[in-house]
Amino acid sequence: MSSGLPDRIEPLVLALAGRRFSGELALATLGRLGSLLASQDGAFRVDLEFGRDESGQPYLAGRIRGEVELLCQRCLEPMVHPVDAEVRLAMVQDDEEAARLPAHYEPLIVATESMELAPILEDEVLLSLPIVALHSEPHPCATEDRAPREKAVVKRENPFAVLARLKRDNQ
Ligand SMILES: [Zn+2]
Repeated sequence: MSSGLPDRIEPLVLALAGRRFSGELALATLGRLGSLLASQDGAFRVDLEFGRDESGQPYLAGRIRGEVELLCQRCLEPMVHPVDAEVRLAMVQDDEEAARLPAHYEPLIVATESMELAPILEDEVLLSLPIVALHSEPHPCATEDRAPREKAVVKRENPFAVLARLKRDNQ
């Protein structure tokens, strides 16, 4: 991973220590996200805080900011999409504990002492993306979906018309 952020974390140890990290997360290192992007250039700016809340619940909070180039699902051209994902993860042991979390937390299941950090952050970015990426209205592609349909209609000639013309030509 890029500078400023650890590759692996021990979430509970960091929460007890109240550690903070800031750094860059290169898009090129995120394989699952990369498969959705038109370009893997650039990096996210990441700010993280490990700690425990008033109830003693260990958490990982922070923000992931940057830009990605998604493919518009209408015209298949790249479109810049700003990312500003809030991280509010509560560390839990299992699904049962996760179900009891207050609504403002998402669960981070900590099954092993140390975990890779990048996949955790990648999940948060993936959750923040639109289900279907589309250029917004003023973009020309918003009207493009009509054009190909008209062309297709022109190409599709009535077979009976073809037959009639052949007959006429042969007379
Ligand atoms: Zn488009």
